[in-house]
Amino acid sequence: MLVTDAIVLSHFDLGEADRVLTLITPEIGKLKAIAKGIRRPTSRVGGSLEPFAELRVQLARGRTFDVITQVVVGHAWLKLRDSLESAATAWYLAELADRSLEERHPAEPLYALLHRAYELLDAEMAPARVARWFEMRLADELGVRPEVDRCVECDRVLETGESYRWVPPLGGVLCERCPGPPASRTAISADALKLLKAYQRMDAEGLAELRLPEEAERAAEIALREFLRYALERDPRSLAFLDEVRAPRTVSIAT
Ligand SMILES: [Zn+2]
Repeated sequence: MLVTDAIVLSHFDLGEADRVLTLITPEIGKLKAIAKGIRRPTSRVGGSLEPFAELRVQLARGRTFDVITQVVVGHAWLKLRDSLESAATAWYLAELADRSLEERHPAEPLYALLHRAYELLDAEMAPARVARWFEMRLADELGVRPEVDRCVECDRVLETGESYRWVPPLGGVLCERCPGPPASRTAISADALKLLKAYQRMDAEGLAELRLPEEAERAAEIALREFLRYALERDPRSLAFLDEVRAPRTVSIAT
């Protein structure tokens, strides 16, 4: 029997009334646990076991899944769910966390990171800023901190006024003098690079205050997504939904 904090990353329904949750916990990391009978109308806890909620759970070892024997909701983060963009971002972050973890390996730093990200979303920080903040720190946790100050090939400190390229397979930015691999033609603007440096160095409160051109934000988003896609070796499924959620805004700008 074990009592732990846990954040729900995802869930699926099983049989008539059960639900299987994928949880992240600080001490045991990722695990799957079954909540029996929670889809019955008489269940008192059913509605609280939604994705992104932080719970205090008591778990018993079961044959296939751990069994949730008691649960109390710690943080429901209700405001996070009010906006579709912030909920879609929460889903994206949960998926990144899920893909970064193996089952049953301690995950204190990643747990703390996800917890903080949900707090920030719940406090209505711009979802895109929270996502970039999270991506940058997740890359650190994965041991692949993006290089944004020196050329990844010649190690020269990048100068202002030169042109840069973003090359995730090499770990960051490439200077204009180095050839790099043949396909490395993705230019990155000085503004976007400056923003990536800010995401690496500033805390969330500082980032929330930044006023930046939309173009640089967009470029930093593309750069970090590409970086994580390379680090995690595939594209999160939730991104398509997140982009769809944000699409109407793009359309209204165009008309
Ligand atoms: Zn170089």
